[in-house]
Amino acid sequence: MKMTRILPALAIVAAALLLILGITASWWRSDTPEPAPFMIAAANPYATEAGAKILRAGGSAVDAAIAIQAVLSLVEPESSGLAGGAFMMHFDPLSGAIEAYDGRETAPMGATAELFLDEEGNPLPFLEAMIGGSSVGTPGVVKMLWLAHEDHGKLQWAELFKPAIKLAEEGFAVPPKLAEAIARDPVLMNMPVAQDYFYRLDVNGERIPAQKGDVLKNPAYAATLKRIASEGEKGFYEGPVAQAIVDAVQNAPARPGTLSLEDFAAYEAKKREPVCAPYREYRICSMPPPTSGGLTALQILGILQNYDLKGMGPMTLTAVHFIAEAEKLAYADRDKYIGDPDFVDVPVEAMLDPAYLEARANRIDASFSMKKAEAGEPVDRRAMNRGLNQPIDKPSTSHFSILDSEGNVVSMTTSVEGPFGSHLMAGGMMLNNQLTDFSFMPEEDGKPVANAVAPGKRPRSSMTPVIVLTKDGDFHAAIGSPGGSRIIGYVTQTLIALIDWDMDMRAAISLPRFIDRNGPLEIEAGTVLEQMTADLESLGHEVKAVPLMSGLHGILVTPEGLDGGADPRRDGNVVTGQP
Ligand code: GLU
Repeated sequence: MKMTRILPALAIVAAALLLILGITASWWRSDTPEPAPFMIAAANPYATEAGAKILRAGGSAVDAAIAIQAVLSLVEPESSGLAGGAFMMHFDPLSGAIEAYDGRETAPMGATAELFLDEEGNPLPFLEAMIGGSSVGTPGVVKMLWLAHEDHGKLQWAELFKPAIKLAEEGFAVPPKLAEAIARDPVLMNMPVAQDYFYRLDVNGERIPAQKGDVLKNPAYAATLKRIASEGEKGFYEGPVAQAIVDAVQNAPARPGTLSLEDFAAYEAKKREPVCAPYREYRICSMPPPTSGGLTALQILGILQNYDLKGMGPMTLTAVHFIAEAEKLAYADRDKYIGDPDFVDVPVEAMLDPAYLEARANRIDASFSMKKAEAGEPVDRRAMNRGLNQPIDKPSTSHFSILDSEGNVVSMTTSVEGPFGSHLMAGGMMLNNQLTDFSFMPEEDGKPVANAVAPGKRPRSSMTPVIVLTKDGDFHAAIGSPGGSRIIGYVTQTLIALIDWDMDMRAAISLPRFIDRNGPLEIEAGTVLEQMTADLESLGHEVKAVPLMSGLHGILVTPEGLDGGADPRRDGNVVTGQP
């Protein structure tokens, strides 16, 4: 055949082939659509990697949360752990439902309102109250994760502990933040168990704190994890793990506590009605009491909704002034009204009533700070006769946000309270000191304090895990932070940056922090905010430049795709991938 005939024939064959290939490809595409990407933002790369492994294997956001928490307990033990407490928000894209899981610790049945008072009835110094057995609450994380897994787990429970077991057995390189926390800690070196785990002996028999990059193995934790993996939540709440925790608390060298196996048996994780409110064109949902986080953040935003923050411009003097004043008002209500809702009536609806918040907003003077806000009077008289909580919170805690490829979202904040909790260690875990989140004083001026200690009660928290939805009910963002009672300000400022100032997640998370907890206006030391000090002072603010260690980890949906952020102030990262 001549070339002139061969060429057209070849062209026809090639075209036919291409057509067949094209049809096959489009069949292929429609049968197995490309899975949507997942994203995780968390405080430590070992943790994000463990979560990503679970999501790659087809696990759900809750599955990944369990793997992440199991790893954080090992590599970030100063912040959170299985012997601590947590709150988890969950979004299901199919039903549109937001659920709020409460894994907060409870006071043991042997706790009394005088738990943190000395013999004269004065509050104990914080460190004294924190260290030892009496600050340890019944841990809630494992039961909460178990409950969430029953609702939303896809992989087998036991699978989710494998990454943490491997790391605990084979060892992990001490992350920078853990090394710093050990080096800085005033008491850890003298605590039983912890002194042998976090320190090694040099040739002279002196204890040397573990350094960044040293390899730590935690066989006791691996054994705990194996029990939980094979026996479910009972592996933690019954048998040798619970017993080891109880023994450590009851035989603590300082302030032994009453925590008992009965407290473990009685512990219940709870599902609560989330608190949600509109902000601009979005709907913000967070955790209700016993955390003050959701309610106070929504109050701040509800007050600021009455002002044009966008028009004021990002981080301008006016914007900082209005946000600080709104914070004062909301923190004043927080201290009066919020405690465990199973024990005290918290006027949630009245506190979020737009008319009430507008009246509160009207108290803000654009030209001068109110300095100290009084609590308002939400239209719900049950809580009127309350004394004020005297808050003391210490920075530690961890937040992570997860979006799985099916669109399920987890926003979870988790904590052992202060760095290294009570400093007691059992089963390879740091035991929390969450009970010091109670008001030390049960009364103020003869009035009962909403957040006073009582047996079985949950201490008031500040943790603020948030999920933001669009007005159509689609997922828009997940965010949260550690930071003690400053958490609320960190999260609120970030939401304002995302929503009013159109920032991307990383920019919003990296903004210089400021927060007014109805006292001085704290600004982040070493940032441009320091240049605003004189102007803020002329508006009547008492300005204090201090280190503000937020640890925000968030995910944002943008028209260009997913946008995640990890706080540069901590060790974390963002990972994305596909199943
Ligand atoms: N224990 C605190 C709370 O639940 C959190 C502590 C922190 O973030 O350092 O609010």
